[in-house]
Amino acid sequence: MAIRIDGKALAVKVKEQVREEAAKLPRKPGLAVILVGDNPASQVYVRGKENDCVECGIVSFPYKLPAETTQAELLALIEELNANEAVDGILCQLPLPKPLDEDIVINAIAPDKDVDCFHPFNVGRMTIGDPVFLPCTPAGVMEMLKEYEIPIRGKRCVVLGRSNIVGKPMSMLLTQADGTVTTCHSRTEDLAAITREADILVSAIGKTRCVTADMVKDGAVVIDVAMNRDENGKLCGDVDFAAVEPKCSHITPVPGGVGPMTRALLMRNILTAAKNHQA
Ligand code: NAP
Repeated sequence: MAIRIDGKALAVKVKEQVREEAAKLPRKPGLAVILVGDNPASQVYVRGKENDCVECGIVSFPYKLPAETTQAELLALIEELNANEAVDGILCQLPLPKPLDEDIVINAIAPDKDVDCFHPFNVGRMTIGDPVFLPCTPAGVMEMLKEYEIPIRGKRCVVLGRSNIVGKPMSMLLTQADGTVTTCHSRTEDLAAITREADILVSAIGKTRCVTADMVKDGAVVIDVAMNRDENGKLCGDVDFAAVEPKCSHITPVPGGVGPMTRALLMRNILTAAKNHQA
């Protein structure tokens, strides 16, 4: 039976490390959290991040803006926060209500406060292997692989998904760790033939049970990034967990896998920003 990778427990450990290090800084790290509109999922995510800040000794500055907020108003707030010395990180919860433009907003956040690591400057730094911040979800996955001593060097890694926030940076970090990486997407032909080659399979598609047992090699490591809802409204991933678990060596559950790690790595990025600002 596979080892279940306990993202919840590892996230607690990462957050404890952040809290210890944050306490040593002359000034508490600060995170500005911008939430535009009343998307219920976004409200839950933001509340979670604010709670994480409390746990880690990070001050959070909440900005709850109405859905009618204009692009100019949002950009003016970001400009103000870019200049605010008590704010080390700025997080603008996505998705933004229409017609706000997410790319313009991402580009407006000062790169040294871009704790989500979405700004092209930070994406570029990560890509050349000289990162300031690491993108939270892929970095959380890398942390799990490290904690469970799963070798990456020379291994066949397959990443399902090529989004800017998950799939692409995931492939990049695995490549930098000496994995041999194939990135798949909705246009990939004969997906199962590729996934069956994977020693490490990371799925970030967003479709319930789209990774079935016949797609997984015996003894593979399976990391499920997705957060979907099944037919009963229950949180689940991409992987058909019950059928895949007996085949693999390690697997992440949903919930309790990658999700908590994403949040913990955000806290680490805020600490990094605060250290850089107070150096
Ligand atoms: P996204 O932007 O919708 O990207 C999904 C990717 O999956 C796209 O690259 C798409 O290909 C690909 N895809 C769609 N159908 C496919 C198929 N049948 N076969 C192979 N590839 C397929 O989503 P995302 O933002 O990357 O998020 C992916 C999932 O991770 C979602 O469930 C999301 O909720 C979850 N997520 C979780 C965390 C966490 O902390 N656990 C964080 C972020 C996201 P194309 O590029 O060709 O369209």
